[in-house]
Amino acid sequence: MIENIEKLSKILNESYSEKTLQSSLADFFKTNFGVNEFSLNLGEEKDLKKTNFSYPIYKHKKIIGTLEFSNADEQTQNFVELTSQFISLKIQNILLNDKMQRDIDFHDTMKNIAKMIETQYELKYIIPIIGEMLDKFFENYLVYIFLKDENKKTNNLSWPNNCKDENILKLVKDLNKSQFSENEKIYAIPLISENKNVGSVVAKSTSGKISSKDKEYFELLATQIAITINRANVYAEILKHATLDALTGFYNRRQLEERIKQEVANAKRQHAPLCGIMTDIDFFKSVNDTYGHAVGDLVLRNIAKIIRSQLREYDIAGRYGGEEFSILLPFTKITEAQMVAERLRQTIEQKTIDISKINPDAEIQKLNITMSLGIYEIKENDKDEDLLRKADKALYEAKNTGRNKVVVYYD
Ligand code: GH3
Ligand code: MG
Ligand code: MG
Repeated sequence: MIENIEKLSKILNESYSEKTLQSSLADFFKTNFGVNEFSLNLGEEKDLKKTNFSYPIYKHKKIIGTLEFSNADEQTQNFVELTSQFISLKIQNILLNDKMQRDIDFHDTMKNIAKMIETQYELKYIIPIIGEMLDKFFENYLVYIFLKDENKKTNNLSWPNNCKDENILKLVKDLNKSQFSENEKIYAIPLISENKNVGSVVAKSTSGKISSKDKEYFELLATQIAITINRANVYAEILKHATLDALTGFYNRRQLEERIKQEVANAKRQHAPLCGIMTDIDFFKSVNDTYGHAVGDLVLRNIAKIIRSQLREYDIAGRYGGEEFSILLPFTKITEAQMVAERLRQTIEQKTIDISKINPDAEIQKLNITMSLGIYEIKENDKDEDLLRKADKALYEAKNTGRNKVVVYYD
């Protein structure tokens, strides 16, 4: 008996989660008492078909779970009777720890969603990151994010890529109040900030009902998500009227398009050559995924700086999209443009970007980045948009034939 108590005490000392406790207790009762099946039941019921002996675990006078045995002789029963207090204490300890850890995870998630707005305002990039955070936090739920379309009429799925659950689609169609569905396995919340309904989030449990604690977490997260989305919308609206991109200081897309019109008109009037370059960073998504979004932003700023340093004063650089930059080279023939592009490609390839200030914990502190480029020289019959469209085709070929290279588009 004493020997078994010592063994049990060792197991309790070494267990730090419900799962490890469950499996080491099962082992323990099997080896020492011949119990075929053992289970530790906390909260909801698990079925153990051959149960013949069930022992409650108390916290003060309240039952917080049961110890279930498929078979237990008298000696086993006595042992459990004698030691259940120790087991109960250990379980309470583990539960308290889990609860604290979950609270910490929750606060981290809230903070990270709130922080996103400092570096990004394009929902196209923000939503997948929020989606991944929610997926990580709610391990047992499927999470969906819907955004209102431009006319603020319908909710469109934004994360993940698809939702085949008709029930959910119907539920969010014109959701304006939080709502359960399917026996509390689905919970949908409208995203409302400053009286604006910007979309909705839905969680679907893959096992039991959605717990009341999770419901509470989900509601608080939804509030923060709504604020972030609303601010992103407002910020994007303001930026539409600005001319410079906030992260890089380059012309933004809208302004770039204005400049293209002017430069193409100029070139045609003066019969001067004009080249366009489209660039795209290679494997940039994996930079974000591996080192975090803030490091991705740092890389963008560094690349923008390199591009600027390689251009003449009257060359024009713009941020075409997320990690795509466009360059206009007035009075430049294709052979010269090719040299500029090649020099730029090499400079980026040779430069290392130090990320220690932003992500000091990353295994690698100096990143090597490469970029693919496509070039085109505009012709007499081309329309304005052909300049970058054809450069982009060349870029596409550069991507498909190995990346980190310059490709020229010829008509
Ligand atoms: P490829 O070599 O084919 O271009 O691979 P890729 O991973 O670069 O391609 P993809 O176009 O799929 O990925 C672009 C990524 O750029 C997706 C998005 O996470 C990231 N991104 C776009 N804009 C920003 C931004 O402003 N900041 C950060 N950190 N990431 C951005
Ligand atoms: Mg891209
Ligand atoms: Mg890319």
